[in-house]
Amino acid sequence: DTIGDNLDRTVAADPDREAMVDVPSGRRWTYAQLRADVDALALGLHESGLTKGDRVGIWAPNMPEWTLLQYATAKLGVILVNINPAYRTHELEFVLKQAGIATLVAASAFKTSDYEAMIGEVRGNCPDLRSVVIIGSPEWDALAAATGEPPRIELSPDDPINIQYTSGTTGFPKGATLSHHNILNNGYNVGALCGYTPEDRVCIPVPFYHCFGMVMGNLACTSNGCTMVIPGQGFDPLATLTAVAQERCTSLYGVPTMFIAELNHPDFESFDLSSLRTGIMAGSPCPVEVMKQVVARMGMEEVTICYGMTETSPVSMQTRRDDSLEQRVSTVGRVHPHLEIKIVDPDTGLTVPRGEPGELCTRGYSVMLGYWNQPDKTAESIDAARWMHTGDLGIMDADGYVNITGRIKDMVIRGGENVYPREIEEFLYTHPDVVDAQVIGVPDVKYGEELCAWVILREGAPPLDAAGVKEFAAGKLAHYKVPRYVLVVDEFPMTVTGKVRKVEMREKSVGLLD
Ligand code: ATP
Ligand code: MG
Repeated sequence: DTIGDNLDRTVAADPDREAMVDVPSGRRWTYAQLRADVDALALGLHESGLTKGDRVGIWAPNMPEWTLLQYATAKLGVILVNINPAYRTHELEFVLKQAGIATLVAASAFKTSDYEAMIGEVRGNCPDLRSVVIIGSPEWDALAAATGEPPRIELSPDDPINIQYTSGTTGFPKGATLSHHNILNNGYNVGALCGYTPEDRVCIPVPFYHCFGMVMGNLACTSNGCTMVIPGQGFDPLATLTAVAQERCTSLYGVPTMFIAELNHPDFESFDLSSLRTGIMAGSPCPVEVMKQVVARMGMEEVTICYGMTETSPVSMQTRRDDSLEQRVSTVGRVHPHLEIKIVDPDTGLTVPRGEPGELCTRGYSVMLGYWNQPDKTAESIDAARWMHTGDLGIMDADGYVNITGRIKDMVIRGGENVYPREIEEFLYTHPDVVDAQVIGVPDVKYGEELCAWVILREGAPPLDAAGVKEFAAGKLAHYKVPRYVLVVDEFPMTVTGKVRKVEMREKSVGLLD
């Protein structure tokens, strides 16, 4: 199936089922209405001269028009290019040129960013860019309300349909090129492992520009016939809790930092979250403490953890609902249906024995076609046997459950000992005053690297310094794992996808420690 065929099938099964709710504006769509709007927009785009393989950029926060465009472009075989809402002119120009975007659809503004003004600044430098359509403008209305026979386009499930840039956590984002087959199947399978039925209502506070929002969110919903609930344009803990309670959501998504913000919100207890059953935590290491609280305080008994990356559509591992609580909170689960994973020694490329750490590799239907226009980067990541080398370190146990121990790039080598920041972070979470913790390596003359912990403390907690952490760690952690430096901060540098940018923390720490 293509994404369009799949949507048609869901509409046919139950046209009156609610497909999408935009909580801030109160707008609602049934599946029949959603398809009608998607078809009208597809016709409008077609009449504007776009054809299969052309690139259309979308630069907007979460809003229903994002989703309509996602399905309209898929019906035409036009390649949708997701543009990070946090970008500024420099990055915007890079993407417009790199992907050769012909039409850019954008919100007029988001938060303090004036998108229209920024587009005006870079437009002259982008020769491929033929038109810009601002959502809500008369041009948009004309596109979105086209009437007539929908165009008939020959499509193959293996056509490229989407260019998704990676989060840029470790460096400059790369454009993963994905097909209908890649993302539709992955979205469907993620939803299936959450046990979705058409009764499910899924709250999606994670960005649509990222695969977490558009694949694990939107595509998982439409392919399983569920309702997409949009709590707001950007992440806000209060708006998210409000949406869950008001719309009686059964499933909630987030990266760990989002769940932490919700659980620690002063009004948390005032929300009725009893409708919640399942959900997904993913994107970065999911602290055991936070998972336990999500189960106990949010009632998400069947919450799952997913592991994946943009390049693999994204999910390749997920916990199952019938896993034990221990397996569900402390591992990323087992390999996804129809995919393969292995853990190799990054130096030799050979599979390591169970229980030993190595680089995680993924193979199967979900591996991207390649990085857009970067064949050298593609060749560095996907080997001749089509294994995607993730750059993540993991350990697989005898039953196939995997623990992600961190990114190869984040591993700290202190005096010859490998230290996995994840382990120290998990430990710091057990401190009663610590709300969130991140550990990085900073240069050190004597040991090569020293551990530096950044911590966010509970409101009103007494100050915490390196001596305090050392005392707390006494008898619990080996001496070389105790952070030499402790910085108390209000927040961490983040990507829009809610991931901590350790590259930036390392740069900043050097200045702060002197
Ligand atoms: P870039 O590749 O641009 O540096 P990124 O890798 O953060 O950014 P994404 O594709 O959004 O971009 O994220 C994939 C990465 O997120 C994985 O490689 C892994 O490091 C991390 N990740 C995802 N899920 C989990 C998880 N459940 N536990 C631990 N880490 C995870
Ligand atoms: Mg990556």
